[in-house]
Amino acid sequence: MFLRYRTLGFVFKKEDKGEADQIFKIFTKDFGKVEVLAKGIRKISSKLRPQIDIFYLSEIEFIQGKIYKRLIGAFCVEKFKNLRRSFKRLSIAYQTCEALDKLIKGEEKDERIWKLILEVFISLDKEKFKVCSLVYFYFFWKLASILGHKPELYFCCGCQKRPELKKVYFNPGEGGIICQTCFSRIKQGEEVSQNLIKILRIILEKNLEFLKKVKAREKVVEELKEISNSYFLFLTQNNV
Ligand SMILES: [Zn+2]
Repeated sequence: MFLRYRTLGFVFKKEDKGEADQIFKIFTKDFGKVEVLAKGIRKISSKLRPQIDIFYLSEIEFIQGKIYKRLIGAFCVEKFKNLRRSFKRLSIAYQTCEALDKLIKGEEKDERIWKLILEVFISLDKEKFKVCSLVYFYFFWKLASILGHKPELYFCCGCQKRPELKKVYFNPGEGGIICQTCFSRIKQGEEVSQNLIKILRIILEKNLEFLKKVKAREKVVEELKEISNSYFLFLTQNNV
């Protein structure tokens, strides 16, 4: 007799397996990140097929098999279909899911991550939404913070003092900003603008509704992209 598990989950990745199977990676409300095998789901006759897919919020039921968790039931609650109508939203959605996949290692329930996923996807799905370009960064930095990698943005990570000069550097290995003096000693890090630090503070301290009202110049968005990429690489390559 197998135990049946039932929960609500958001599908962030799917891969074909064998002739007609698929593996879904799902962040669930009650068990955190899980991988489930859906047998025969690519067959047209499959009852599960219309109920679960990438970017779906579905009620799922599964059992723990010898190797895989097996999906035995699914019911779609929300398809977020608007985000599929725009290439830009779709590419942000994929990028967001990539961060989710790479940064979360084990199976662990986390209410904050669950709420963050819903906040971001509900927002991405809305018709009128102007600051789409910042949504991914919002997700990435919030997720990194929840996972214990919130960057220090007020005090220098080298000397613990508030940087006196405006010139500061971001150093992923040190865990945040470093001042000019520490930079000349450590010799690692990227110079960042005051505007970049301001926007990062907003991302970390405010919610998405607030962030939507912020007008970010293209230059600072570019800078944000670079810093986010280097922090993402640091977190994934160093297995922290
Ligand atoms: Zn310093």
